[in-house]
Amino acid sequence: MKVTIIGAGPAGSLLAHYLLRRGQYQIDIYDSRPDPRKISFSKYRTFPLLLSERGLNALRNIGLEEAVKSHGIENTGMINYSKNSKPQELVRRKPILTIDRNTLVNTLLEKLEEKDKNRQVNIYFNSRCIGVDFRHKRLKFKKETEEEITVGYDLLFGADGVRSVVRTHFLNTERFEFEQSYLHEVYKTVYLSRINDKLRINLEPNKLHSWKLEDGTRLLAMPQPDNTLSCGLVFKHKKNQVMGMSSKSEVREFFEHNFPEVAKLMSESEAEAFVKRPAWNFVTIRCNRYHQGDSVLIIGDAAHAVPPTIAQGCNSA
Ligand SMILES: Cc1cc2nc3c(=O)[nH]c(=O)nc-3n(C[C@H](O)[C@H](O)[C@H](O)COP(=O)(O)OP(=O)(O)OC[C@H]3O[C@@H](n4cnc5c(N)ncnc54)[C@H](O)[C@@H]3O)c2cc1C
Repeated sequence: MKVTIIGAGPAGSLLAHYLLRRGQYQIDIYDSRPDPRKISFSKYRTFPLLLSERGLNALRNIGLEEAVKSHGIENTGMINYSKNSKPQELVRRKPILTIDRNTLVNTLLEKLEEKDKNRQVNIYFNSRCIGVDFRHKRLKFKKETEEEITVGYDLLFGADGVRSVVRTHFLNTERFEFEQSYLHEVYKTVYLSRINDKLRINLEPNKLHSWKLEDGTRLLAMPQPDNTLSCGLVFKHKKNQVMGMSSKSEVREFFEHNFPEVAKLMSESEAEAFVKRPAWNFVTIRCNRYHQGDSVLIIGDAAHAVPPTIAQGCNSA
């Protein structure tokens, strides 16, 4: 039986492991992007994920927990900073893993190929799904060369993320209901050093670090294996100073005033890059069903995207 998965992100690649374990399927995976193992992504085109017990358990069940953990950082707690009081630490009962999204996917894909002794898995990159015909079980793809191809499937999984093309085709099916909503907050990524020797700052490497202002603006910093911090600055979409910043000096001023410790870890080039970096929306996707007949299923963000602030999208994918 031929199973086709659209999307080689965390959900699609993890699913392929579980299907391969069953031994009875021919598995074809298509992804619109190039093979992430063959190109070097800048860290600005990926982001760190927090994997908690739910996500780690899914990896543990296919023997990949340790392989993934070896690329991440286990955080034993979170330190909350505020302007007028001492930092407070919240200790976690179980550590939470920080792992870069692309590194997670690369590990899943590498291990998938290692386990595929009988050559049951084919992965096609640079192949964007542009059409689905549920009735005739046909899929249309556009290749990098603009060439269009049509292939058949027996079972189809749409793991093609928050803007899922497979889900879009559900809209033509009977009584499918779908809701896409945005939070009133947006976020921008910030990249800092974890250490400033001159100023004797050395934030703990195995803790998450969080700052919050009275108006709800907050910054979460996640230590990375290379002694940097990948951070998300979350702020209100409307009437917020961050959206209006147009120069490096405004960025410096904002951080020095609101997050003085953070400002000391920010390089000049980062302050400049921050101005140009886009603000991202928090999208929530709700569907009244995830299947179409007995041969199509949408999974991961395609089916139930949640805002990154609750750090559960990948864990539940
Ligand atoms: C900044 C940020 C921080 C986050 N932090 C966390 C966190 O801490 N913890 C957590 O659990 N979750 C977090 N999330 C959410 C998490 O990233 C997603 O829930 C997770 O990546 C969903 O995996 P997915 O495979 O369903 O979708 P995606 O990761 O979006 O992957 C979809 C794949 O499908 C491919 N694709 C898309 N369209 C097509 C098409 N038409 N044809 C072929 N291929 C296609 C894409 O190239 C991609 O490879 C965060 C998200 C963001 C943006």
